[in-house]
Amino acid sequence: MTKPLGQALDALAAEGINWVSAVACGTAADSAHLLLLLAMGSRFGERTDFRGGQEHPFDRRSEALVEQLLKPALSDRNATLVYPASEPIDLRSWLALAHAQHPAPFGIGIRPDCGPWVSVRAALRTRLQASELTVIEERYPKLAPDSSPCARCAERPCQAACPAAAVTASAFELDRCIAQRLKKDSPCAYECAARNACPVGRDFRYGAEQMRYHYSVSLATLLRYAGTLSTPPSRQA
Ligand code: SF4
Ligand code: SF4
Repeated sequence: MTKPLGQALDALAAEGINWVSAVACGTAADSAHLLLLLAMGSRFGERTDFRGGQEHPFDRRSEALVEQLLKPALSDRNATLVYPASEPIDLRSWLALAHAQHPAPFGIGIRPDCGPWVSVRAALRTRLQASELTVIEERYPKLAPDSSPCARCAERPCQAACPAAAVTASAFELDRCIAQRLKKDSPCAYECAARNACPVGRDFRYGAEQMRYHYSVSLATLLRYAGTLSTPPSRQA
């Protein structure tokens, strides 16, 4: 007997996983879906012990919440976690298909409610019954294609705030951003001025410690791979 899915979504939201998007990933007949579990704002971080030196604390906590709260509420006993996992998946493409966020000019996602303070915490491949899909989509409706706040942002303060001119009107210059972040004593080592300058969703902004933690992880990755990759690593934080 499964627990009600709505109750599981309530429990996940209380833990900081406060948006779930479902996107079909199989044939119409097999009802396979990818569930994307998003954390908007700082609640997830506030409930995660990332100060104790544990490896990948955000991933471990996401996995535990999926096992404890979400899987018992799904009818599919074979639901499989595909992120975090050892095999990388193209989260950005799945997020676009799911209409869960829009691209922001500084290389991450943005939503009209929480601005650029959103991240994917887990993704699960599962077969959904029609009633389960309805529960998810009524609670978490897809974003309208024309709902990007950037489309209505004439002043674009994110552009002016970037010290490396990596945020331009036409594209995000990732190489410039990486070069700036890797400079000695860079102001971009542990935060992104462009992201901070965005006026959308300010109430969702991460706290100082969480911000530093996420950016220190991505900076460590950049330092590890600097000069050795033809394709730079993702900068999602
Ligand atoms: S400052 Fe404006 S253009 Fe830049 S990310 Fe925010 S809404 Fe979009
Ligand atoms: S981290 Fe720095 S260089 Fe990169 S986009 Fe943000 S402000 Fe610009």
